[in-house]
Amino acid sequence: MRQLNEIFKKAKDGQRLSDDDLRALLYQVRPGSEEYYHLLYLARRLTFEANGGLAEVHGQIGINVAPCPMDCGFCSFGKGSGVFKENKEIGLEAAVDLALRMEADGANAIYLMITADFPMDRFFEYAYAVKKALKPETPLVANIKDFTDQEAMALKEAGFVGVYHTVRLREGLDTGIAVKRRIETIEAAKDAGLILTYCVEPLGPEHTPEDIVAAAKVGRQYGAVFSGAMRRIPIAGSRLYEKGTITEMELSLVVAAIGLYMGTPFNCTHEPNMPSLMAGANIVWAETASNPRDTRENTEEGRGLSVRDCQRLLQEAGLRPLCPDYSLQSQNKNEDSPKRRIRSRSKLFNI
Ligand code: SF4
Repeated sequence: MRQLNEIFKKAKDGQRLSDDDLRALLYQVRPGSEEYYHLLYLARRLTFEANGGLAEVHGQIGINVAPCPMDCGFCSFGKGSGVFKENKEIGLEAAVDLALRMEADGANAIYLMITADFPMDRFFEYAYAVKKALKPETPLVANIKDFTDQEAMALKEAGFVGVYHTVRLREGLDTGIAVKRRIETIEAAKDAGLILTYCVEPLGPEHTPEDIVAAAKVGRQYGAVFSGAMRRIPIAGSRLYEKGTITEMELSLVVAAIGLYMGTPFNCTHEPNMPSLMAGANIVWAETASNPRDTRENTEEGRGLSVRDCQRLLQEAGLRPLCPDYSLQSQNKNEDSPKRRIRSRSKLFNI
């Protein structure tokens, strides 16, 4: 108990938490306890005060479905899950339309996602088409397979500001990719000047504090602009299906602990959920087309939330979604005089 109080004091004073501090939070704090609510309070205060309560919705477009040879044990694209039996892509025109719709709805960034066996040259055709259609100030982020130094430079040249890339929980054991390869990709992205977005995922009941610390450590070491946590969604047929998932309340504890450990003004959670927004998360993802947590080809008909859904959820959590409509709203009339209206597309990407 004493140790927890010391960790809370460090966090409150803005000091950097150690790996041991994160480990102690994960081992000792129990959902629903007094310490849990104090942890959530501190984590929310950190990101809320850093951004004046602003929060962002990032929109992801899944370009394809495929029986992916990497066969990660949690993913609906993993070939062993048997969910998707053939390669299918949405087409350039559909990708552009979806990106424009998300942009018009106020998405603060657009992510393009592919499976690990999708050809890079075809991916760049999508990237160039979407980039050309979007407003110049709309950040474009790649959520793709592992890549080389040259490909990282090509991503930068194609107009990507950043990548979403992580060392997943039990990487190399539950996934078909070695930790080393994931880190090489992160290093290539950083060397090319791409911003790293990160999340500890996909969290299930079997993961220990040691697993979580190991994943979070990589995000902080490589200067990720945020990391929270995402829980695993059980996909029938996948190897990890029987292990189940965790509750949103359990997820929120990890989001808060990692948020304090990262010490960044932004923190994320996925899928969007209220307890984690009360635990300091201020980045959530809307999804369209394919989704590794869904068995439908178009996640809009399944699990994926729209940009508007996410904005509403942020508002319900007492946050202010950064978008043209909502940026005109304020709890404080003096603060929101016309001169001080927020005009940027994304505070996170500084655009
Ligand atoms: S998580 Fe990525 S690499 Fe793993 S099976 Fe799914 S698409 Fe393939």
